[in-house]
Amino acid sequence: GDLAQEVDVLVIGSGPGGYVAAIRAAQLGRSVAIVDKDTVGGVCLNRGCIPSKAIISASERYMGIKEAGEMGIEVSGDVNVNMPKLIEWKNGVVKKLTGGVNSLLKGNGVEIISGEAYFSGPNSLRVVSEDASQTYKFNDVIIATGSRPAELKILPFDGKRILSSTEALNLQEVPKRFIVVGGGYIGLELGTAYAKLGAEVTILEGTKSLLPGTDEALTKMVTRKLKKLGVTVITEAMVQGGENTGDEVVVRATVNGEEKTFSADYCLVAVGRKPNTDELGLEFAGVETDERGFIKIDKQCRTNVEHIYAIGDCAGGALLAHKASYEAKIAAEVMCGMNSVIDYQAMPFVIFSDPEIAYTGLTEAQAKEEGYDPVVSRFAFAANGRALSMNHADGFVQIVADKETKQVLGVQIVGPEASTLIGEAVFAVEMGANAEDIAMTIHAHPTLPETIMEAAEGVLGHAIHMV
Ligand code: FAD
Repeated sequence: GDLAQEVDVLVIGSGPGGYVAAIRAAQLGRSVAIVDKDTVGGVCLNRGCIPSKAIISASERYMGIKEAGEMGIEVSGDVNVNMPKLIEWKNGVVKKLTGGVNSLLKGNGVEIISGEAYFSGPNSLRVVSEDASQTYKFNDVIIATGSRPAELKILPFDGKRILSSTEALNLQEVPKRFIVVGGGYIGLELGTAYAKLGAEVTILEGTKSLLPGTDEALTKMVTRKLKKLGVTVITEAMVQGGENTGDEVVVRATVNGEEKTFSADYCLVAVGRKPNTDELGLEFAGVETDERGFIKIDKQCRTNVEHIYAIGDCAGGALLAHKASYEAKIAAEVMCGMNSVIDYQAMPFVIFSDPEIAYTGLTEAQAKEEGYDPVVSRFAFAANGRALSMNHADGFVQIVADKETKQVLGVQIVGPEASTLIGEAVFAVEMGANAEDIAMTIHAHPTLPETIMEAAEGVLGHAIHMV
């Protein structure tokens, strides 16, 4: 028995949930320590959002050079992809950001503890690292342990040819052939990036369509572009098994009742994520999880145990970085005696596909379900000067508003920079804005956000650039 160290607030996990919670609690005057077994920054910075967007950007830059001929840009000589260099650049981006998080934590007086944590009681945590182990006693704790890739038993990861997203973000060569099992956003984003870098990509999706759960009007445009990129999308494909044969990976799947075999250099298995709650000793703290292992929380991020909070991926719901950071602020504030409450009404969802998809609030169908009488207004990027001058004019902005009050209930976008454009829409939904608020806001010309203004004019029945 070593002597237990006393800390006021402990945060477990330093992803976009944990590090934000630690900083906010410190800002509110608490004495905070944060534990992680890995580099700070969590999945998001080290092997999620940031590295994937870096690879996507590089693939778009490469594609852009090849497509620039339409705009009169002629490239003489070869344009090549140097994958080790691309990955090294990507790692540099990650390093800048994790270094930044480290400085932010220190700058806010947060103690960083390195090691793997598990509960030894409701007020104590054991932290084990390679060379030491230490018990900590705390007053309050925030669990932000995140999630990890779910494995398919019949096609287990081997880290060589059968990959999780983590390894797929660190390939040292552009695959000649690349199989993606799972047509969710992670599989779709990485599949598209590798297709643009030159791989022959096949996506195997079990359900009827890519991006299950996303409005079909939005996904249709993406499916069309994938076809143009030469990506083979096979839906209702039930993977039965597969193996690494040494020189390649072979995947067997049933498609329309027929057994088919696919082979490639690499296969990415992206079929969902599992919460990191199974090796945390939650039973010693008495914290309840649901049947899938996600920690149950209330509207203030409290677990069933008074002084124990949970946020981010490990608490379920939308497994997104900004949702983790949002809950982080709520949890820290509640822990410090404030009456903050979660409200997901204006949550953005973004998919970095081609074209990008982004949405927030209610779709038309959801609005009807909630008892609204909705009016829908759509404006195409093909009628936007900026989109045309960028040579990216596929897609549209759609506003769902209440017919009577014109309140903006939801916005769906598929098209160029949808990920950025959704910001204005999220703000409108959050503020309870109506279509006139957006329509009467002066939007700079020529810019993509003018499409949101035009769609809002459409709600009012008098768009200028649409008949
Ligand atoms: P995590 O980021 O998972 O962090 C948890 C941390 O806890 C880790 O650092 C881990 O080491 C640590 N930990 C776990 N258990 C212990 C323990 N027992 N002891 C000590 N430390 C422990 N989201 C978006 O919003 N936008 C995107 O574009 C996006 N792209 C993604 C792309 C990919 C390829 C992937 C895999 C994910 C992506 N996500 C994206 C999801 C996003 O990464 C997660 O939602 C987010 O990281 C969750 O944050 P978190 O703080 O809850 O947990």
